[in-house]
Amino acid sequence: MKKVGIIIALVSLLLTAGCQEENPTENITNQPVPDYTSMEEEPVLAYEVPVSIPGILVNQIGYITGSTKVAIFHGEELPDVFYVVKAESGKTVYTGTLEEKKTAPNETISYCYGDFSEVTTAGTYYIEAPILGRTYEFKIGENVYGDLFAEACKQYYYNRCGMTLTENYAGENAHNACHTAKAVLQSDTSVSVDVTGGWHQDEKGQKNTLAAAETMSMLLLAYELYPDAFSDDTGIPESGNGIPDILDEIKYEADWLLKMQEQETGAVYEGVSVYAKNGDAASKVANIYVEPPTADAGKAFAMALAKFSYLYQNYDTAYATNCLKAADRAWKYVELNNKDKIMDEWSFAAATELYRASGKLSYHQYVTQYLQSEDYKNQWNETILLGYVTYISTKHRVNKVHCEMIMDLIMTKAENISYTAREAVYLTAGNKQQDNNNQLLLEMMCLSVVNRIISNHEYETVIENHLHYFLGRNETAHNHIENSTGIMKQFEADGKLVLMLSEIMKNGR
Ligand SMILES: [Zn+2]
Repeated sequence: MKKVGIIIALVSLLLTAGCQEENPTENITNQPVPDYTSMEEEPVLAYEVPVSIPGILVNQIGYITGSTKVAIFHGEELPDVFYVVKAESGKTVYTGTLEEKKTAPNETISYCYGDFSEVTTAGTYYIEAPILGRTYEFKIGENVYGDLFAEACKQYYYNRCGMTLTENYAGENAHNACHTAKAVLQSDTSVSVDVTGGWHQDEKGQKNTLAAAETMSMLLLAYELYPDAFSDDTGIPESGNGIPDILDEIKYEADWLLKMQEQETGAVYEGVSVYAKNGDAASKVANIYVEPPTADAGKAFAMALAKFSYLYQNYDTAYATNCLKAADRAWKYVELNNKDKIMDEWSFAAATELYRASGKLSYHQYVTQYLQSEDYKNQWNETILLGYVTYISTKHRVNKVHCEMIMDLIMTKAENISYTAREAVYLTAGNKQQDNNNQLLLEMMCLSVVNRIISNHEYETVIENHLHYFLGRNETAHNHIENSTGIMKQFEADGKLVLMLSEIMKNGR
């Protein structure tokens, strides 16, 4: 705990914030509607190991000029040396030796590591070694991940529902305005509701409120922590309007989310289900149902719109105020109608956002109540981490003890992630093939947060190592991000990818 005092000072300095003393039924088919990009709800990962995978594994895109650059070598028999070769000339520019042999559990083959960080001239290279052959060509440069980051952000634009995307902005993802008809309530089909807009979350065009709120919040967190990674010229219709494109994109979702609130009561619908009409899919006519309100939808709605309000207030005060009012109404509805189950990580995260945005002590009481229960110490997920970050960065008074406990918890977690990654064969926070990319992305969310607070070179390297893993330095040498079912095509995972890449791109590379 002795580090905490220093850490708190850094939080205050860097986040210009807190940790101060407390004071306060029709024809339904499942035929997909065509014409837009798909985003899978669940990860679809192929971990079947091909018959022959390359013996030298690299990040297939490449490495940032000044970064730590490591290739992984594996096989029954390994060479002593490796060569970094300039692709255009075929000239060897660096000769390295293999270091640090590791063996994966239940495997007979060995893994060694070749560090070529000394190669700092921009260009295209490959690595070759006796016995193992050569790698794909990859780049070394200052902005090697720029296109990847831009595409990760732009997935949300490609998935905009209810508006025409022209080729000018969307290229091969261009499509006509879809799902523009009024939807009906699932509980009473005589009532129609306008829930047009927002982002598709899968190939059918489903729109779930919780997934939308969590993804909006993840993108907002990326912007909040690493604003310099985001620009106003990414090639969406709003580019050049003086507002970072990522905020314009999130506002498109906020416009939709506001429609998901029942005007009379403040209750929030769970989501929008889309079913193509039998035989009519080609004309993009679909039956669209609005699912009944739930408490979780209300909390998620409050969390996302309060967060958006806080970060958007300097660009459009009236809109931000409207979002905060809607968030407050959603919260009040949940508070009145779901007393028995109000305290969980969703309400915690919502209360932290509402407190930060409004300063109202009644919200702080919920935060305190949750942190006093200590249940949170056994919880580890995106939602609770979102709540942590907002609580420790609020400018209003906070409970110092709770603030320090949160700091201690996330710092310890970051140390554990870093230690596990150091020991693991692929230098990631998981050591088994079946480890889920989503879990790794959650761990990188934590490191991206902690690295914003204490700026630790080792953590930066661990984050980059996970990107290297996703981009080919893995068991199958597959690209886990850009393939047709990869991270970028998964609605929620892509948000975490944007956060992780924004840390890597934080200096506006
Ligand atoms: Zn649509």
